[in-house]
Amino acid sequence: MKLIDTHCHLDLEQFREDLGEVVENAGKSGVEKIIAPGIDLESSSRVIDIANSFERVHAAVGIHPHGADKAGEEDLVYLRRMASENEKVVAVGEIGLDYYRKNSSVEGQKRIFRELLKMSRELSLPVILHNRDADEDFISILRENPGYALKGVVHCFSGTKELLRELLSLDLFISFTGVITFKGADKVRELAKEVPPERILLETDAPYMAPAPHRGKRNEPAFVRYLLGVYSDIYGLSEEDIARITTHGANAVFSLGIEEKAAIVYPIRDSLYINLTNRCTNRCSFCTKFISYNVKGHDLKLDHEPTANEVISELGEINDYKEVVFCGLGEPTLRLGVLKKVAEYVKSRGGYVRLNTNGEGALIEKRPIAGDLAGIVDSVSVSLNATTPKEYQHMCRSVYGRKAYGAILDFIRDCTANGIGVEVTCLDFLGEETISEIRREIEPLGASLRIRKLNIVG
Ligand code: SF4
Repeated sequence: MKLIDTHCHLDLEQFREDLGEVVENAGKSGVEKIIAPGIDLESSSRVIDIANSFERVHAAVGIHPHGADKAGEEDLVYLRRMASENEKVVAVGEIGLDYYRKNSSVEGQKRIFRELLKMSRELSLPVILHNRDADEDFISILRENPGYALKGVVHCFSGTKELLRELLSLDLFISFTGVITFKGADKVRELAKEVPPERILLETDAPYMAPAPHRGKRNEPAFVRYLLGVYSDIYGLSEEDIARITTHGANAVFSLGIEEKAAIVYPIRDSLYINLTNRCTNRCSFCTKFISYNVKGHDLKLDHEPTANEVISELGEINDYKEVVFCGLGEPTLRLGVLKKVAEYVKSRGGYVRLNTNGEGALIEKRPIAGDLAGIVDSVSVSLNATTPKEYQHMCRSVYGRKAYGAILDFIRDCTANGIGVEVTCLDFLGEETISEIRREIEPLGASLRIRKLNIVG
């Protein structure tokens, strides 16, 4: 399991005595990378030195809002030089606004915040943002460059749900500290529920905010693992899922150089998925692959279509999982031969097999295929988001045109006739009337209906 602590003040005196040990402990606990932010010129220079001394540490340079009034033009020039001349600098941060303590004037904070955002844009670096009690100014400054795709994280989030939604609409990531593990932190956990797991990053904010069971002690990056259980409960995912998703997110934001391999066989929760192809006979307007091939931290963009033997060799212990699912971001029945061989293998070892399909397999093979699946596939999930051939074609743009809709209904009927359980899935945005119509259409065929959320896969 790889973890990333995206915010740890390694340059503070609390780590002076045992910094090497702290970084080593982090590595032993699965912390692959640590990002150490700077809060002023001196601290930025120190975190760069630390990053240059430890492979797993990266630095960010910034001026915390508390020190804004003291920062002049020369400081900005110097900070820019530090950011552009050091390869281990991966972000501008920690920067932002803090009206709670007001250690610097509001005008001074806004000036430095704007300057550092400008620097991050000019250097194409992401940002590590701090906001306390300054919601209105914070969001309005972040919105000042509408054409610019802001990249970064709001660390130690502690605002309202409204602010959270605004920040998510700007494509920013959110992180909560060890506070999220505290008994009385229901409000923080409620806020986290508003954030898709794909937009969460892990952070300790060490040496502060040590999570339970170390609350009150010095925090350190190794403790980032204590956040996993909380997020796992919030999102109904495994701790491994949370680790993978947040590591992918941090790698994407901060370009940490962690290599991500295309997944042929990939676990999510207690299911094991198989990715046979990226090809599809549809081009659905809602397909997430047109935005990203990443599903719950797995890269599903294949560099080649795997053979049956390749898939089987990657399966591992099938019985550790509730089911094996042919899924991916493509149509598995385009590779019917491979699918059958792998499904036979899984069944021979007592596994449960599910197939996620667009239901156009009979058109692909130019013959009904439900008979081929009988005995080796336990259930199929068929995506159906329309009530007429015309609507289906409008939304899913099948290469088979309006023939597709009828063929899908035939496939559902054939599957139930062959003893294969059928679940039809449709998207919630279709509205109650359309969903009821789909239900009326498919229930007489022996299928059940599951409504799923748009853009949530895996
Ligand atoms: S059928 Fe599935 S994989 Fe194919 S385009 Fe539609 S959503 Fe994407």
